[in-house]
Order: sequence, then C-alpha cells, then structure tokens
Amino acid sequence: MFSFLKSKITSFFSYFSSKIGRFFSSQRMVDDSFFNDLEEVLISADVGADKSQQIVAQLKLMAQDATSSEQVKRILQELLTAELKAVEHNKKETGVTLIVGINGVGKTSFVGKYAKRLISQGKRVLIIAADTFRAAAADQLHLWADRAGATFFDGNGKTDPAAVVFDGCKKFIDEKFDHVIIDTAGRLQAKEHLMRELEKISKVVLKAAPGNEMSTWIVVDGTLGQNSLEQAKLFNEVSFLSGVVLTKIDSSSRGGIIFSICDVLQVPVMYLSHGEGIDDIVSFSAESYVKGIFDA
Ligand code: GDP
Ligand code: GDP
Ligand code: MG
Repeated sequence: MFSFLKSKITSFFSYFSSKIGRFFSSQRMVDDSFFNDLEEVLISADVGADKSQQIVAQLKLMAQDATSSEQVKRILQELLTAELKAVEHNKKETGVTLIVGINGVGKTSFVGKYAKRLISQGKRVLIIAADTFRAAAADQLHLWADRAGATFFDGNGKTDPAAVVFDGCKKFIDEKFDHVIIDTAGRLQAKEHLMRELEKISKVVLKAAPGNEMSTWIVVDGTLGQNSLEQAKLFNEVSFLSGVVLTKIDSSSRGGIIFSICDVLQVPVMYLSHGEGIDDIVSFSAESYVKGIFDA
C-alpha cells in the first residue's frame, strides 16, 4: 500500500517534484541566494508566500551546519513532513460526515468514493443530498450512491436543505445506519445565502449526531492554488472544519496548497482524490505525500 501510494503520488506532483529535483541537483552553494531561490520554488508550487517564507526561515535555522545542498534537501523534507504531521492529532473519522466546498471541486464524486470505501469496510451508509437547488445535482449524487451501494435520501421533494438534512439524519438514526455522508451545494455566486444555509445545516447535523460527534470536511481542488485558502477560511467561519480532502491531484495540481490550509486552520488532510473513478481515492499520509515530492 505504501509503495503504491508513493509511486502514485510521485507521478502526480511532477511540477513540484521536478522543481525540487532540479533545484537541489544543481549542487549550489548554501548561501542567502540559495534560500531566496528555494523560497521562490515553494511559492511556485502553491505553498503560499507567507508559509514559504516561514518554512525557509525555519529551514535556515535547522540547516545552519549543513554544508551540502543534499543535506538541506533532507532537512527540508523532514520539515515539510513535520508541518503536515503537526495537525494529525486532530485526525478523526466520525459516523457523521458533512462535505462542503465550492462548485466543481469534486464534492459529489468524493461522497460516492468515500461511501464505497466505507461500504467495503462492511458499513451501512446513507447519503443525503442537501444540494436541493439543482435537480441535476441530486440525480448525479443518486448515481454515485447506486454505484457505491449506499442508500440515497433527497428529502422526498422538500426544498429547504436544512429540512432535508433534518429528515435524513432522522432516517440515519431510526434505521441504524453506521455512517451518514451529507453532500452540499457550493454556489459561491450566492455567497451570503450559501453561508447562512451551511450554518443552518451544520447546526441541524450537530444536533442529530450521536454524542455531537461530526466531521466537516472541505473539498479543495488541487489545481486552484491559493484561492482555496481563502475559500477554506470562509467556510470555516460558518461550519467548523475538521479536515481537508484534496482532489484532482492527477491533473496538474501543484500540491503545495495543503501546507497553508493545514497550518492556518489547524486541520489535517484526510483523503486525496486522484481521478474520476470510484476507487480513485487514497487516505492521506504526510510521509508518503512529501516523499512523493522529494523522491521522484
Ligand atoms: P462538485 O461540484 O464539488 O460536487 O464536484 P463534482 O463531484 O461534480 O466534480 C466536478 C468535476 O470534477 C467532474 O467532472 C468530476 O468528474 C471531476 N473530478 C472530481 N474529482 C476529480 C479528481 O480527483 N480528478 C479528476 N481528474 N477529476 C475529478
Ligand atoms: P431555525 O429554522 O433557524 O430555527 O434553524 P434550525 O437549525 O432549528 O432548523 C433548521 C431547519 O431544520 C428548519 O427549517 C426545519 O425545517 C428543520 N428542523 C429543525 N428542527 C426540527 C424539528 O424539530 N422537526 C422538524 N420536522 N424539522 C426541524
Ligand atoms: Mg456536487
């Protein structure tokens, strides 16, 4: 599994890994301009200006005695792994999962993939369609639920998403499902309305969740770069985020975005999505992720 993940990831972050590879293979002298250029490499891989600056400042301290660029490379690898591991104590999966994020990032596909994974572990899974605005959204989710072998609930014609979620959570409890996954809308054009709606949904779900235990994961499109950090902050204001799902790492994703999101929100990455097929997800591992970037 580990080597599968590693080889998969290596092939995905070709931009980041080739930049890192090229930078360190040039065998440059380790001086100020070396660190300045390294900061540029990190920024170009979507790590974000603030985060890149902070990482390089810390690297300079840790690499004070390093004499070769190869040594600095290994210290940077450790540092980046530690960055992602620092939030892993918050890593938890609960029986109730709310999925949020803007349109088109891969929420609905992820709900199907995650359901399939839980079902293959022997769980009974209910999927709730809280995107009641577009009929096509529910149809698409229904298709994923069928593919995964999950039970689908769309509120039997109700249009208030919070009311649909309320009824769906009741079904989850009454019919003793092991897990419920709630897919939501992401129309940022109607930002104020969407955020109020999500706030309401979060409250309904939290009330219904056994022991008030729920997870809210934001789905982030790996190809969108630093915009995703702003989105994550926005969603975090109305529904307390507990994890990140990074999608589309198979299509020119630079991979650096998670370093700022995880740091700013103090939440771990839960899953990576790497394609459009139902089995195209892997659970996240900080070591494999960073190794994939460094050992290409
Ligand atoms: P939503 O609007 O957030 O629910 O996003 P969807 O699940 O509808 O996905 C939007 C588009 O992205 C669809 O065409 C998906 O097939 C595609 N997609 C989702 N996840 C991935 C992924 O990991 N890799 C690739 N290449 N495409 C993806
Ligand atoms: P509020 O409408 O601002 O008070 O928000 P709530 O979070 O209390 O409820 C949100 C939605 O969930 C409401 O619009 C209701 O449709 C539904 N809901 C909440 N509580 C109940 C309840 O006890 N019974 C039913 N049938 N629906 C509820
Ligand atoms: Mg959707």
